[in-house]
Amino acid sequence: MRLTFLITMCDLSLAELKNYPPSETRILMIESQRKWQALPFHRKKLVLGISAMRHFKLELERAGYEVDYRHEADFASGLWAHWRQYNPQRILAFQPREWGMQQILSKLAQDLPLALLPNPFYILPREEFIRWADSQKDLRMETFYRWMRRRENILIKNGQPVGGKWNFDKDNRKPPPDRAYPEPPFVEPDDITRTVIGIIEGQPGLWGSATDFRLPVTRSAALKWMEHFFRWRFADFGPYEDAMRQGDFILTHSLLSAFLNLGLLHPSELIERAIAAADEYAVPLNSLEGFIRQILGWREYIHGMYWYKMPEYRQVNYFQHQRGLPRWYWDPEECELACLRDSIEMVKQHGFAHHIHRLMVLSNFANLIGIHPLRLSEWFWAGFVDAYEWVELPNVLGMATYADGGLLASKPYISSGSYIHKMSNYCASCRFDVNQKYGENACPFNYLYWAFLEKQRDKLIHNPRMAVMYRMLDRKTAEERASIRRESERFIASLPEEDPRYHFEYD
Ligand code: FAD
Repeated sequence: MRLTFLITMCDLSLAELKNYPPSETRILMIESQRKWQALPFHRKKLVLGISAMRHFKLELERAGYEVDYRHEADFASGLWAHWRQYNPQRILAFQPREWGMQQILSKLAQDLPLALLPNPFYILPREEFIRWADSQKDLRMETFYRWMRRRENILIKNGQPVGGKWNFDKDNRKPPPDRAYPEPPFVEPDDITRTVIGIIEGQPGLWGSATDFRLPVTRSAALKWMEHFFRWRFADFGPYEDAMRQGDFILTHSLLSAFLNLGLLHPSELIERAIAAADEYAVPLNSLEGFIRQILGWREYIHGMYWYKMPEYRQVNYFQHQRGLPRWYWDPEECELACLRDSIEMVKQHGFAHHIHRLMVLSNFANLIGIHPLRLSEWFWAGFVDAYEWVELPNVLGMATYADGGLLASKPYISSGSYIHKMSNYCASCRFDVNQKYGENACPFNYLYWAFLEKQRDKLIHNPRMAVMYRMLDRKTAEERASIRRESERFIASLPEEDPRYHFEYD
């Protein structure tokens, strides 16, 4: 009798099924309506996930598997319906990436012969991360990254980092370049994708549009996308990693997160290919190391920390922020801050904006105006094509908003307008003036930043990395500080209300 292998939405790689041949294995895939409806997801995100699943089904069938592909109200009904029809002796699945799915599967495993296998879609198994974390005093990414470099022997020579340094950040802070980069290999939708677009476009309550969806949904197209990045953008990845350019949602980034997170690409193959491509295309070490740091360091670390800290992690709120997300985050047309409007428009149009928009504009602004971290996290989860709770939650609550009180980041990533001015071309076209500190025309990031520091003094003053900023704040006159407070209160009071349509209910 054949066993059943359950493929959850983001575990799509055929190579990972090598120990389960078609003669012994039936595949179960479930499209769950409930999952789509959990949040006001971006239509492109749903099309990506669903079309990738439907394409993967065909790939499995071509490889000889029988696939029971179900459209169900929820995941549990799908599994029970399969069980009743086929009565398999064993059901196997890879450990899901998300806490919610793990709960569903654990519950089902009480009544069904369901067993979970280690998740092969990361370099470091989550159990090993937990062992590492338990052995550490310092849980910073940098410590983890150096340990991973040595453990995996990546860019290491004679026990030392290649190039003599672990970090080339100093070379990687250039403002946006003038040059244009060739468009990545977008894919015209085939019949399957067009059908999914039709279904999703007809669903009410979702965000954005998928009519112009052109992302890869198969491994072969994702591999082409990866090669294109290495050929055309990789060399400039490092220097412009932190730069933002109006209307340019990728710049020198890769947008590979969407395909990695679906399981179309494996992080190890990306690293291996990056090292070879660096040789082929004369990519400087600051770009190569910077890219490897993202995959081997940040991505593995975030995954590990999620499983190390869930489910309590959802509750953190160090600054006790309570405000809802202003409507601008869904409909940015009336937002007058050029950087914020453009960053939200990118997400609304593409389901994507690169790292610095996420960190230094979208989250920075939300944190400065006191948005509840979970409301921001839900927005990221819903809106980005690469977002799953395992990756967005620690990034939003830990890295971007310091809601965990400093577990992930050594200081909050907040800034005034000057950082955005230095790293982007937004301020030139903004109706606000980045050089003004107070008044109707002053850049709101300026006074919001200082007002935030003042308000959160007790929680931040003892952080050595904030000392310089508090010294600067303390040099301001009482009158200046009163203006900062007044401007900030006036601005926050003028923000649009949150949109009540977008309230998320956790199980
Ligand atoms: P590149 O800049 O080309 O980097 C290469 C790869 O490194 C990425 O594809 C990604 O897989 C990995 N990576 C880099 N930084 C991180 C990180 N901090 N955490 C995890 N992986 C990382 N990433 C997601 O994959 N999904 C999310 O939902 C997500 N939400 C985020 C929310 C916030 C507030 C912030 C600050 C970051 C978030 N990130 C998320 C991390 C990062 O911004 C994205 O991985 C990156 O922008 C994806 O674009 P890219 O593929 O062009 O990345």
